[in-house]
Amino acid sequence: MDYFPIFTKLEGRHCLVIGAGEVATRKIELLLQAMAQVIVIAPEVCSTIQSLALHHSNLKIIQKSYDSSFLTNVYLVIAATNNREVNQQVYQDAEQHKIFANVVDTPELCSFITPAIVDRAPITIAISSGGKAPVLARLIRGKLESMIPAAYGKLGKLAEKFRERVKQTLKTGTERKNFWEDIFEGATAEAVFANKDTEAEQQLTQLLNQYKFKTQSTPGEVYLIGAGPGDPDLLTFKALRLMQKADIVVYDRLVSKSILNLVRRDAQKLYVGKQRAKHCVPQGDINKKLIEFAQQGKRVVRLKGGDPYIFGRGGEEAQALVKAGISFQVIPGITSAAGASTFCGIPLTHRDYAQSVTFATGHLKNGTVDLNWQALAQTNNTLVIYMGLTGLKTITKELIAHGLKSKTSVAVIQNATRFAQKVAIGSLETIVKDVKQKQIESPAIIIIGDVVKMYNELNKETLDLEWKVASA
Ligand code: SAH
Repeated sequence: MDYFPIFTKLEGRHCLVIGAGEVATRKIELLLQAMAQVIVIAPEVCSTIQSLALHHSNLKIIQKSYDSSFLTNVYLVIAATNNREVNQQVYQDAEQHKIFANVVDTPELCSFITPAIVDRAPITIAISSGGKAPVLARLIRGKLESMIPAAYGKLGKLAEKFRERVKQTLKTGTERKNFWEDIFEGATAEAVFANKDTEAEQQLTQLLNQYKFKTQSTPGEVYLIGAGPGDPDLLTFKALRLMQKADIVVYDRLVSKSILNLVRRDAQKLYVGKQRAKHCVPQGDINKKLIEFAQQGKRVVRLKGGDPYIFGRGGEEAQALVKAGISFQVIPGITSAAGASTFCGIPLTHRDYAQSVTFATGHLKNGTVDLNWQALAQTNNTLVIYMGLTGLKTITKELIAHGLKSKTSVAVIQNATRFAQKVAIGSLETIVKDVKQKQIESPAIIIIGDVVKMYNELNKETLDLEWKVASA
């Protein structure tokens, strides 16, 4: 993070604007909105600023050239002149005086920058690209503007009005959080959006009473969520919604960082995956923790790579929750077989090559790869093996021994759907060598069968290359 975002209070503070043209006008208007004491320094002042000064007692114009004495007792300074030397001087002086400085459109002469703003007062959303891609920041702002109804401002004002009363009525932070979530996601918000303000206030008061006289604290809940193979765009809406509600998230190694970042910011995070050179937290302990947290009234997100019920031991966790009488939901995720298949251009079924798909694990409970090879060595079938990298040699040997041709195509995909996706293509005969040569590591998934032949036609790298050649 190149810039640390803060919201600063400007009410009553002296803010200096050097320059008094069109660009300065925009900045002055923003500062006035924030109720700053604005002082404009410029030998010539445009008519808009002059008329602003007539209507705002907190805007003062000094028709002089800039010099550093103006920086005394100033909170921040914005330079918006068209004179590079003056702008440079303002920045240098401000640095010396340890005053926040911004030279408009000159990131290298800024100790603070102003973001693009979505204003739903009292909610303010600030977006910044750190001066590196302002157009992108503005595009994002446009998206947010259209996504967030203007009535969110009204909802914020309603919360502001009742904040103190709710604080007096509900004593614990968890109670208040749950109450406000019910308000913002339930009928009260709908009433605000429909401009039924009185109804909204009545509903809020009613719910507050219900919360006040609730004898038991709300029971916790567990959400077993499939986080997909890594690309955050592959999450479901439901997964994202529940992740935003979490009090605590219990996650393991396969959950990518960019997905973890989407969990509610102040949720507690508990890692239960493998530590380097150590073992995973035993499954029994994880089950116990999930139950304990839920019994404490928490909303527990159990975040798992891919789909929770495919080789993810989600089934065992659900069984433990049922046994303990904990309420839970399971949210499917895109399993890594599907992610790898689509992201590297190997359809798992195709009428010419495979009429069925088999998912198998290359790592059994007892640590062996002792699979039912006869059942797996089928033609016209795609065989996908999870956790098979360590046992790859045994897998290929057994499949050949049980009747698959040694020329049968194989793909091994590491980090499917992630930025660092890597693919090795070969045959049952060559793949061990190919994997070594490409330095493929875990997590990797193995796809075996004639569908792998489609890689050359459909993989994205080839498509990109063809596109480049075509457009050259
Ligand atoms: N529940 C998960 C699977 C967990 S088992 C799912 O549905 O995908 C762990 C195995 O999944 C890994 O050993 C690897 O074979 C596979 N895997 C998970 N994420 C992967 C990824 N991004 N790329 C390739 N393989 C992955």
